[in-house]
Amino acid sequence: MTASGKRNFEARILVGLYLSLALGGAAAVETKTFSGARIFDGTGKPVIENGTIVVRDGRIAAIGPSIKVKTPKGAQNIDLRGKTITPGLINTHGHVSDVEGKRTGATEEGVTNQLALFSRYGITTVVSLGGEEPAAFKVRDGQATASLNRARLYLAGSVITAKTPEEARQMVDKSAGPKPDFIKIRVDDNLGTTKKIPPEVYRAVIEQTHKRGLRLAAHYYYLDDAKDLVRSGADFLAHSVRDNPVDDEFISLVKENDIPYCPTLTRELSTFVYEDTPAFFTDPFFLREASAQVMAGLKEPARQQTYRTNKLGQAYKAALPTARNNLKRLSGAGVRIVMGTDSGANASRFEGYFEHLEMQMMADAGLSPAAILMSATGGAAKALKLDGIGTLEKGKWADIVVYDKNPLEDIGNTKSIVAVYIAGNEVRR
Ligand SMILES: [Zn+2]
Repeated sequence: MTASGKRNFEARILVGLYLSLALGGAAAVETKTFSGARIFDGTGKPVIENGTIVVRDGRIAAIGPSIKVKTPKGAQNIDLRGKTITPGLINTHGHVSDVEGKRTGATEEGVTNQLALFSRYGITTVVSLGGEEPAAFKVRDGQATASLNRARLYLAGSVITAKTPEEARQMVDKSAGPKPDFIKIRVDDNLGTTKKIPPEVYRAVIEQTHKRGLRLAAHYYYLDDAKDLVRSGADFLAHSVRDNPVDDEFISLVKENDIPYCPTLTRELSTFVYEDTPAFFTDPFFLREASAQVMAGLKEPARQQTYRTNKLGQAYKAALPTARNNLKRLSGAGVRIVMGTDSGANASRFEGYFEHLEMQMMADAGLSPAAILMSATGGAAKALKLDGIGTLEKGKWADIVVYDKNPLEDIGNTKSIVAVYIAGNEVRR
């Protein structure tokens, strides 16, 4: 470097230093306040009728009644008078893997696109329960940043399909390699049409999962299997009990072991609702994102006829009231209910929209709006140990949904979303 080059270089450093000091002094550039809204914070505490949230570097720096929260000078204020805020919604059972052979989860772009779609519907976290590819792990590993603007992802990786205990242990070890958040297993004979994984195999899966310091999420259908899975150490019941009404023994088991229960009522719905053109096909909230091509396929008379004659779908249809009654009973008994849909597992389970449909079905089952919102926010995060999200509290990520109408009055009002923020960044909708 020449002498004058060196002088220029030093001058640039000085200018840089000056600028960073000046900007540092105006750190409020990075600070936002959300003021005037009714706030449901997801902790179970009473609603704040006129609250303010201060967000700095993606996280909540302060929250409380507007008269008590000091707003930093120069912060960008978002005036939300008359609106309602909840924490970003959590889908505890979704999929960002492969939608109908299109390998949508094979690339980081494919995974990110699905997470962006979820976030436009206010679903700011998705627990993807199985079948994710390496790209999804990369997407998950890059999300602890204040610049995030799509839904957060947790995942289970390869689903364990072993035939022997030995094979089970090997498969768990392999699946645990890329550090999934859960290990997933399916204990189901699909209403007697396939072979069910035997107890000694799933017990080996659970044992090995725990040895690896991970948690076991179980797909299942029958009450007896659910009981044995919980007795064997399963950590998460990722569907409803659908064959029988739940009994006191089951309720005691899930409560004593503090096991989250995920109803996935829309999963059942999706197996038969397309026997006709569903009412939600005219819902503007659905139409804003739904694929016209997928809708056209589901409206074809021949396709609708196959739904009408599909034995499995019709059996799931018949089982739905059992699932609904079980949800009501379990919620009333104080079991940890977590909202989840199984959306994304195929194209007819519409990511983003189905979570709102699920919450409506939970309301139809008899749950209160507050209980449903808890199951999709703080209750879900606590039950599944998802750190840093789920509630609006100091130190948490500023994942926020803003509604025009109050969902605590009618859960259908979750569809009145006016804005979604992830780590304080507004999601483009
Ligand atoms: Zn699933």
